[in-house]
Amino acid sequence: MVKSVSVLGSTGSIGTQTLDVIEAFPDRFKAGVLVANRSWKLLAEQTIKFRPKVIALGDKSFLPQLKDALNGVDVKILSGTEGVIEAASLADQDIVMSALVGVAGLKPTVAALEAGKPIALANKETLVVGGSIVTKLAKSKGLPLLPVDSEHSAIFQCLHGQPERSLKRILLTASGGPFRTKPKEELSSMTAAEALKHPTWSMGAKITIDSASLMNKGFEVLEAMHLFQCEMEQIEVWVHPQSIVHSMVEFIDGSILAQVGLPDMRTPIQYALGWPERLPHAWESLQISQCRNLTFEEPRLDDFPCLKYAFEAGKAGGTLPCVVNAANEVAVAAFLKGKLFFTAIAETIRACMDAHKLIAEPTLDILDRVDKETRLYAQNFIAEKYDKH
Ligand code: MG
Repeated sequence: MVKSVSVLGSTGSIGTQTLDVIEAFPDRFKAGVLVANRSWKLLAEQTIKFRPKVIALGDKSFLPQLKDALNGVDVKILSGTEGVIEAASLADQDIVMSALVGVAGLKPTVAALEAGKPIALANKETLVVGGSIVTKLAKSKGLPLLPVDSEHSAIFQCLHGQPERSLKRILLTASGGPFRTKPKEELSSMTAAEALKHPTWSMGAKITIDSASLMNKGFEVLEAMHLFQCEMEQIEVWVHPQSIVHSMVEFIDGSILAQVGLPDMRTPIQYALGWPERLPHAWESLQISQCRNLTFEEPRLDDFPCLKYAFEAGKAGGTLPCVVNAANEVAVAAFLKGKLFFTAIAETIRACMDAHKLIAEPTLDILDRVDKETRLYAQNFIAEKYDKH
């Protein structure tokens, strides 16, 4: 059977690599739906190449250009938030790759689950912000949440077929990012250009900055807690600069299983789309001679406090992870524009956390409201504290 894939976020880093996988296995996958937010040019090119039935563009302002570029092409074009949600829940799709950037990915993913679609999950915010709602919904519908993030794919593979309640600890690995060895006093002056030079993974700009601040690892801790239904106390982060061991799981009998491979996102994407089968490898694979020097070190929590804040938010639960995420999105956007020092990202998050009054069991609407309020608070905080430089 050829699986028809809805690719939400098809023009981003995970989206384009998902299309690489689809192209590599034409007898297994086809792209049935493509969704992008603003990159109308690339979406038009992808539409001509992959011939999806339906496409959607989140930002309506580029719709005329997109329609122009696809003049004469047989495809249904949807637009706006409602269009994205409609595209995510179309009846004849077999699996949804959720790879939109930011909290904008949450509602379409929920809509896809409500429509009964298995989810290949790359959008972190879906679990970071809406973890309790999304995991409950998936469970009640009997639908899998197949992790695409390399670490969670590793943990998912290590846990596969293991008896329930045999999990002791999750050992989540982190590359440490481009500033892993930078002395504390130099961190504040780091620029966006320096943060964008990731040593092992090639990814989008937002996640590369999150990787430099260890916020990305913090989000992954929150994701792991939801995906694998464990306590924050059961998750440890280990900095592993070679990015070969994608993560490990320790069981109650003391055995540790690891999943290892080259740092190439197409491998976990292929695993998620093909699940529960394994497909032959289409890319370069790991040689054991590349594993001669694997190292693991403790993260520098005091110098990279975002990771600490994520643990704190995970323990508190409720709306606090949503606050951390929204504050981080605003701060990273400002940092990318050169408006902030690197360490001001963490300071902005801390300020938003301190100002927030926790709501223990939020609905999607409450999360929406908290997201908007936090963004406003973060923008004001940044304007007042840093714009005078
Ligand atoms: Mg990752």
